[in-house]
Amino acid sequence: MAFGKLTLIVGPMYSGKTTELLNFAEIYEIGRKNILLFKPRIDERYSKEHIVTHKLFKVVATPVASGEEILKHYQDFGKRVDAVFVDEVHFFEPSICKVLKEITQRGTDVYCAGLDMNYLWQPFETTALLLALADEVIKKKAVCELCGEYKATLSFKKESNGNIFDVGGKEKYIAVCKDCYNKVCNH
Ligand code: ADP
Ligand code: MG
Ligand code: ZN
Repeated sequence: MAFGKLTLIVGPMYSGKTTELLNFAEIYEIGRKNILLFKPRIDERYSKEHIVTHKLFKVVATPVASGEEILKHYQDFGKRVDAVFVDEVHFFEPSICKVLKEITQRGTDVYCAGLDMNYLWQPFETTALLLALADEVIKKKAVCELCGEYKATLSFKKESNGNIFDVGGKEKYIAVCKDCYNKVCNH
């Protein structure tokens, strides 16, 4: 049995991470493979039990609070699992890395999408660890909402309140490039 492959999709908010994750899921579905989709229980922006893109395309996913819960669903599935998908992976504790690695060691491909950095331009620990473990990393960009250039790599929080684990959409966060981030931060 071959090991599974770990793919990580990162970037700022609105960079198309979830869209790309669901595109990969569709490829397995077209091939009639068995897949499991997970999302953090904390993310209820659009729906509790769906992974939803900003274009409001959605698929059913299991809300979980930890990597251990993912492993339990994986083990309880009963059949071979071809791929596991995890959205908003930065919301999970770093211990999820061990679980996802173990799942690849059991021959299942793993796809994760998440923010690489918080709104303070600092790495999210869980994503940083997965960047090291991943076989393939896809780093996405968004359109900077201040200058309009397709080079946004950061998520800017309009009302900075120190909370880096704070779920939100456009009312709270915009995608910005580094130059614009600097301008608004030194204001
Ligand atoms: P993510 O999971 O990275 O937040 P999604 O895949 O859910 O992103 O949504 C991507 C979609 O967001 C794009 O296809 C586009 O329609 C929309 N969008 C909104 N704001 C922006 C932006 N600043 N840059 C690029 N796309 C944006
Ligand atoms: Mg997303
Ligand atoms: Zn800009």
